[in-house]
Amino acid sequence: MPEGPSIVILKEEVRPFLGRTIRRVQGNTTIEKERLLAQRVEAFRSWGKHFLIELPDFSLRVHFMLFGSYRINEGKDRAVPRLSLGFDEGEEINFYACSVRFIEEPLDLVYDWWADVMSEHWDPKLALRRLRARPDTLVCDALLDQDIFAGVGNIIKNEVLFRVRVHPLSTVGALPARKLSELVDEARRYSFDFYVWKKQYVLRKHWLAHTRSTCPRCNIPLTKAHLGRTHRRSFFCEQCQLLYT
Ligand SMILES: [Zn+2]
Repeated sequence: MPEGPSIVILKEEVRPFLGRTIRRVQGNTTIEKERLLAQRVEAFRSWGKHFLIELPDFSLRVHFMLFGSYRINEGKDRAVPRLSLGFDEGEEINFYACSVRFIEEPLDLVYDWWADVMSEHWDPKLALRRLRARPDTLVCDALLDQDIFAGVGNIIKNEVLFRVRVHPLSTVGALPARKLSELVDEARRYSFDFYVWKKQYVLRKHWLAHTRSTCPRCNIPLTKAHLGRTHRRSFFCEQCQLLYT
């Protein structure tokens, strides 16, 4: 699933389409896609895992969900795009297996940019306030909460908890203040490491816990379990990741 940094990379990859006009629309989406015809792309933006195309009168939101993907100036074998946007000279952006919808309001009224871990507007103090308001939440759920950490997905969650040595079943309220700040800071720091490594095609190589079987610190087997409200896969070390309850 594309996490926040991957959407920032997509935003960079489609930069050549900025200012260009949509000439053709196709795809199996049920939204009224013809509205997009003759619209000029004013901006590409992102909020967490949402990719946003700002047009003169409205915006298009693309959410990649669990299995979404995209291709630029090429198709995907045997797959029908959810939405294909065609431009002059046969160039196109194709979105697959994602959710698309229109946003009528100005994006600045809809999105809380301060909660986006990749945004220049990211506000760690706001994240801390929101965490403190949910003391009973498990940290593995809190990190995936898009109202607090927009853009953090399961990989980032596992790696951040490993880095800060916190057990995924710890509760937010039980974490010492300094540990909670460390968690918030690491969520952003690791997201930027993710971004750099993904661009260099070396992301997996740097995973310390996610999908790994042995703890690189303790050299003992990592535990794998579907934890929390979301039942997403967690990989963690019972020895060096402390359980705060
Ligand atoms: Zn360990």
